[in-house]
Amino acid sequence: MIYDPGDRVVYPGIYRCTSCGDEVAVGSGQCLPEIGHREHYGSVPVRWQLLVYPQLRS
Ligand SMILES: [Zn+2]
Repeated sequence: MIYDPGDRVVYPGIYRCTSCGDEVAVGSGQCLPEIGHREHYGSVPVRWQLLVYPQLRS
Protein backbone atom coordinates (compact mmCIF):
# COMPACT_ATOMS: atom_id res chain seq x y z
CA MET A 1 0.00 0.00 0.00
CA ILE A 2 1.36 3.39 -1.03
CA TYR A 3 0.01 6.59 0.47
CA ASP A 4 0.35 10.25 -0.43
CA PRO A 5 1.28 12.93 2.12
CA GLY A 6 -1.78 13.98 4.08
CA ASP A 7 -3.57 10.69 3.58
CA ARG A 8 -5.30 9.23 6.62
CA VAL A 9 -3.79 5.83 7.30
CA VAL A 10 -5.82 2.67 7.72
CA TYR A 11 -3.20 0.83 9.74
CA PRO A 12 -1.04 2.38 12.45
CA GLY A 13 2.64 1.66 12.12
CA ILE A 14 5.93 2.77 10.65
CA TYR A 15 5.75 4.33 7.21
CA ARG A 16 8.78 4.82 4.98
CA CYS A 17 9.30 7.33 2.19
CA THR A 18 9.83 5.29 -0.96
CA SER A 19 12.23 7.88 -2.32
CA CYS A 20 14.61 8.80 0.51
CA GLY A 21 13.89 6.12 3.11
CA ASP A 22 12.79 8.46 5.87
CA GLU A 23 10.55 6.74 8.37
CA VAL A 24 7.65 8.11 10.38
CA ALA A 25 5.43 6.54 13.02
CA VAL A 26 1.71 7.13 12.47
CA GLY A 27 -1.03 6.19 14.88
CA SER A 28 -4.43 4.80 14.02
CA GLY A 29 -6.64 7.38 12.34
CA GLN A 30 -3.81 9.90 11.96
CA CYS A 31 -2.59 11.49 8.74
CA LEU A 32 0.79 11.21 7.10
CA PRO A 33 2.90 14.38 7.34
CA GLU A 34 2.45 16.84 4.49
CA ILE A 35 5.19 19.30 5.41
CA GLY A 36 8.66 19.26 6.87
CA HIS A 37 9.97 16.58 4.55
CA ARG A 38 13.31 17.00 2.85
CA GLU A 39 13.40 17.97 -0.78
CA HIS A 40 14.07 15.01 -3.01
CA TYR A 41 16.62 15.07 -5.76
CA GLY A 42 14.79 15.71 -9.02
CA SER A 43 11.68 16.80 -7.10
CA VAL A 44 10.51 13.21 -6.81
CA PRO A 45 7.15 13.24 -5.00
CA VAL A 46 6.85 11.87 -1.48
CA ARG A 47 5.18 8.49 -1.24
CA TRP A 48 4.69 6.66 2.04
CA GLN A 49 4.74 2.89 2.24
CA LEU A 50 3.69 0.90 5.28
CA LEU A 51 6.84 -0.73 6.59
CA VAL A 52 5.92 -2.33 9.92
CA TYR A 53 2.69 -3.62 11.41
CA PRO A 54 3.24 -3.18 15.16
CA GLN A 55 0.79 -5.95 15.93
CA LEU A 56 3.00 -8.43 14.10
CA ARG A 57 5.93 -7.87 16.45
CA SER A 58 6.45 -10.80 18.79
ZN1 LIG B 1 11.49 11.33 1.27
